[in-house]
Amino acid sequence: MTRIAVVDNEKLKDMDKKKHIQSLCPINRKGDECIYFEGSKLYIDEDLCIGCGICSNAAPEAIHIINLPEELEKDPIHRYGKNGFELFSLPTPIFGKVVGLLGKNGIGKSTAIKILAGVLKPNLGKDREASYEDLIKYFKGTEAQRFFEQLRDNKIKVSYKPQQVELIPKAKKGKVRDLLKSVDEKDELNTIAEKLELTEILDNDIKTISGGELQRVAIAATVLKKANLYIFDEPTSYLDIKQRLKVSRFIMELADKDTAVLVVEHDLIILDYITDLVHIMYGKEDCYGVVAHPRATKAGINTYLSGFLREENMRFRDYAIKFETRAKDNKNELELLTGWENIEKKLGKFKLHAKEGTVYKKEVVGILGENGIGKTSFIKILAGVIEKDKGKITKKIKVSYKPQYLDSESEELVLVLLQDVIRKHTNQVINPLNIKPLYEKKLNELSGGELQRVSIALCLGQDADLYLLDEPSAYLDVEQRLIISKIISDLMEISKKTAVVVDHDLLFIDYIAERLLVFDGKPAIEGTVKGPFSMEDGMNVFLKDLNITFRRDPESHRPRANKEGSVMDREQKSENKYYYS
Ligand code: SF4
Repeated sequence: MTRIAVVDNEKLKDMDKKKHIQSLCPINRKGDECIYFEGSKLYIDEDLCIGCGICSNAAPEAIHIINLPEELEKDPIHRYGKNGFELFSLPTPIFGKVVGLLGKNGIGKSTAIKILAGVLKPNLGKDREASYEDLIKYFKGTEAQRFFEQLRDNKIKVSYKPQQVELIPKAKKGKVRDLLKSVDEKDELNTIAEKLELTEILDNDIKTISGGELQRVAIAATVLKKANLYIFDEPTSYLDIKQRLKVSRFIMELADKDTAVLVVEHDLIILDYITDLVHIMYGKEDCYGVVAHPRATKAGINTYLSGFLREENMRFRDYAIKFETRAKDNKNELELLTGWENIEKKLGKFKLHAKEGTVYKKEVVGILGENGIGKTSFIKILAGVIEKDKGKITKKIKVSYKPQYLDSESEELVLVLLQDVIRKHTNQVINPLNIKPLYEKKLNELSGGELQRVSIALCLGQDADLYLLDEPSAYLDVEQRLIISKIISDLMEISKKTAVVVDHDLLFIDYIAERLLVFDGKPAIEGTVKGPFSMEDGMNVFLKDLNITFRRDPESHRPRANKEGSVMDREQKSENKYYYS
C-alpha cells in the first residue's frame, strides 16, 4: 500500500504548534527525522511514516495522512512539490467527440486541464519537469500517448475557456467588440456573436455586462481562436436554462474529425446532453485525484451516481444517489404558510406581475425562469427586501433570505459570522455543509464555492418561517449540490418550515422541489409568476416553452434531456408530456 502525507504549510503557521506536532511523532521520538523542517516549513518523510495519524489528529486542517487505493499502480502524473497534491492519470481528448470531466471540486480537474493545455508541465511525481518522451512512455499503449506525441510535434493547438469569467473585467478593458476582435483568428466575429446572442452588446463596455453575457463572451473568445482542442471549464455558470441549452448545442457542433472538445460541467443534465464520453474523477479534496478511464456518458453518469467503479473495483462514495421515480406532489396535510394576491412591481422599464399563489408548511417550492425575468425581485418582495407597488402578501411571516450575489469583501471570520448557527445547528447545517475547515478564514479569503456554503448555512441557521435561497447551486460541484438538496429538504420536513429555491440546474430542482413556480415573459421587459404547480405540471409548462422534452433514466431515475427530433422527443411532444414523471 502506498501512503502519502499532504501538508498545507499555509494553514500551519504557528511554529510552536509545529514543533509540538513534531515532538508527538513516534518515529521522531525514536530518533529518526520523520517530521522535519526546511526553514520554517514542516515536512513528512513518507518512507519513514507508519501512518499512526497522531500528527493529522493534532492539525486536521493542515496534515493528511492517506493510504492510496491499491488499484493505483502508477506514479502520479503530477505532484505539487514535497507533501503536495497528487494527480493520477489524465483525461483523453478524442477528435470528433466531446469528452466530459465529472467529479467534485478540489480533486485536480483544473490541474488536468492545465497539463493538457500545455500551461503546466507535469513532473511525474519527481522534482523535475517531465520531457515529452517521459510522458509518451508513461502513457504507452493509451490514447494519451498519441495526444502527447502530437503535442510534442506541435500538432495540437489548444484554446481554453477558464472557469472564473468574472475575473475577465479585471484583466481586460474596453468594448466587447474590441476584445473579441483581438482574438479573432478565424474572421468569424459577427457569425459567432450572432450564434451566442452577443450582437446587441458588442459595443458595450466589458465592465458593464452581466455574468451570463460575460460567460458567452468568454466562450466566443475561445472559439474565435484557431485550435484543434477546445477546453471549456464550467461553460454554463451564470446562464439560464435556455442559454445553457443553446451554448451546449454550440459547443457540440465544434467537435469534428479534426477537433476535440473537453468540458468540465457540474450541471449533470447539461453534461449528459453535451458529451459523448465522460471521465469520472475521484479522490480526496486537496490531497489527491484520480482520472478514471472514459465511459460512454449515460453509463458514466449512472456509475458516478452509484458511487462505485465496478471495473476499477473502487468505491468512492459510501452511498448511491437516487432520484424519485415519480414527480413529487405534496398532497398530504396542507398547512398554509402564506400567499400573495395581485402583486405588481415596476423596476425601471421592467414590470413584474404575480396574480395569486400560496405556499404551505413543510414544502420546498422550486422557481424556474429565464434570467432578467423577475425571479430575484419576486423573492425580494416576499422577503420584504423591496417594496411592492400593488397587491398584498396574505400573511406576515418571518423570512430568511440568501441573495444570488454574495458579498465577499468582508474581513469577518466565518467562525464569528456563523457563531449562532454553530451553537444551534451544528448537526443539521454546519457538519453536512463541511463548514468547520473554514472557521478560521475571513469571508474575503473564501472561494466562490466556500462562500456559497457559508451563505447557505447563514440563511438556514436563522429562525424563520420561510427560507428563500437564490441560486444556491452556483459554484458548487455535483456532490455538494445534492448534499445541499438533502439538507434543505430534511430541515424543512423536521422543523415544519418552508423553502423557496430559485435555480437554473434542472436536476437540482427536480431533486429538491415538491412544487414549482414558473416565470414567464420577456427578459428585462415583463415577467409573470405562474403557479405554484405540481412538479409535473410546472415542468411541462416550463419545458414546453423551451421546446425540449425530458425522460427518466430507467436505472438512476434521473431526468435526461431527449435529443431534439429523436423518437422519444417526438412521441412525448405528441402526447404533450414534456417532463416524464
Ligand atoms: Fe509521524 Fe506519520 Fe504518525 Fe504523523 S502519521 S505522527 S508523520 S508516523
